[in-house]
Amino acid sequence: MTGVFQMKVFNTVERMRNFSMSCKLEGKKVGVVPTMGFLHEGHLSLVKKIQKTCDICVLTIFVNPTQFAPDEDFEDYPRDLKKDLKRCELCGVDAVFTPSEEEMYPSDSSTRVVEHELSNGKLCAVSRPEHFRGVTTIVAKLFNSVLPDYAVFGRKDYQQLQIIKRMVRDLNFPLKIIEGEIIREKDGLAMSSRNRYLSDEERMRALSINKSLKVAERDIRYEYIRNPDIIIGKIRKNLNSAGLEIDYVEVLNSENLEKVDKISEKVLIAVAAGIGKTRLIDNILVSP
Ligand code: AMP
Repeated sequence: MTGVFQMKVFNTVERMRNFSMSCKLEGKKVGVVPTMGFLHEGHLSLVKKIQKTCDICVLTIFVNPTQFAPDEDFEDYPRDLKKDLKRCELCGVDAVFTPSEEEMYPSDSSTRVVEHELSNGKLCAVSRPEHFRGVTTIVAKLFNSVLPDYAVFGRKDYQQLQIIKRMVRDLNFPLKIIEGEIIREKDGLAMSSRNRYLSDEERMRALSINKSLKVAERDIRYEYIRNPDIIIGKIRKNLNSAGLEIDYVEVLNSENLEKVDKISEKVLIAVAAGIGKTRLIDNILVSP
């Protein structure tokens, strides 16, 4: 039958590459949406973005062990491949790449891709020192498997996005990075696969993250507060009142992620906080 859409699912690098190369030979632009699965509207917004620019949308699903520390939630990370594939199909994804752990990391795999500036001593890298080398390694491997012309990453993981942009530039990957806005629940909570760990009561308290970021935005834009310490102090107070365990609250230059003394140009306000066993991150970009 013609006209029936059939999404492809690939488990090996070889099959994935063959598909991409055949699309490119036909003059089609290939875009990739890397994910760890358990898809939500945030992921699907990235699919829509890629579909606007590319002829072929490949979504990858791989829970990457090398970006989790031994005491983190790799084993418990939510997975539902069947549901994810259904959602991809409904969204018109052309192919899903879902390799096994052995496919991506043969037992004697011993090479890692490391970015040394933005991944060091800042934001999430302080409490998760090995995390970003796992991310850059797997993203480089996914790029070499999918051979995309474009790749999309969400601003939800702002530091990750900047690190990947740097890696693409530094290693001359022949592709362009597209950025996706943060998609939120109606009440403001940034969508995340990890939100499913939250109890109802924890979820209520988690709202203080977005609320305090919005207060900070208002303070900068309408109260003309330019001192980052005042902004940080107020956010910390709000998060503490909600009983969150703060990992960091930072006001940084949105490009190089360096601390600013004064808010005089666009800044990133970034938060990471624990609620029970769940660690959540969120951020906002604010121009004074
Ligand atoms: P993950 O599956 O959590 O590794 O995320 C895969 C991609 O989706 C990354 O580029 C994330 O930044 C992006 N992403 C995750 N949550 C959201 C969200 N709420 N809005 C937009 N993009 C998101």
